[in-house]
Amino acid sequence: MAEISDKLVKPQGMDDVHFMKQALQEAQRAMDEEEVPVGAVVVMNGKIIARGHNMTEKLQDPTAHAEMIALTAAFNALGSKYLPEATLYVTLEPCPMCAGALYWSKIGRVVYGADDSKNGYRKVAGDRWPFHKNTELSYGCCAEEGARLMKDFFQQKRSPWPVVVPLHHPKNSYHAIYTRSPSLRARCVRTTHRHSYHADSPW
Ligand SMILES: [Zn+2]
Repeated sequence: MAEISDKLVKPQGMDDVHFMKQALQEAQRAMDEEEVPVGAVVVMNGKIIARGHNMTEKLQDPTAHAEMIALTAAFNALGSKYLPEATLYVTLEPCPMCAGALYWSKIGRVVYGADDSKNGYRKVAGDRWPFHKNTELSYGCCAEEGARLMKDFFQQKRSPWPVVVPLHHPKNSYHAIYTRSPSLRARCVRTTHRHSYHADSPW
């Protein structure tokens, strides 16, 4: 097993900040599409070769994380299944699935922004190194901006005007919309909202 301390590389020149800002733009794109705002870019030789943002709602695919989309785009762009010369920038700590995909990609370097105590890879991996042995890792790059987007998103979703919660109804897919207004309380309407956010989310 690789020594983790050998693998951690402090960010960041201006290059890291520059490319993380591009990943943040992708996260903003996700936000605009009402997706959990996480964005990623893959960089090689100082150029962005692939971009991605979270699309799990749009595609109804829980694997459609920003990193997975950016990685697939990078493989396609290069016609290669390995990325040893590339760096992936992502606004949030990768989850265990994405850490696995990054492992298989043999990517040269991963730079992430904000920690994700609930869904990040460290929750599962602990102190073990989940990436390829040759992968370097930097973290905390533009972390405040990445975390701010997440907080804003979940705050908006939890806003009491209205809060949308799933209503388990055997005959339809209606959701109950609860508001603080008694006259509107428990009014049942058809809605396209499919989100359900849990109180124990760190955001
Ligand atoms: Zn992920």
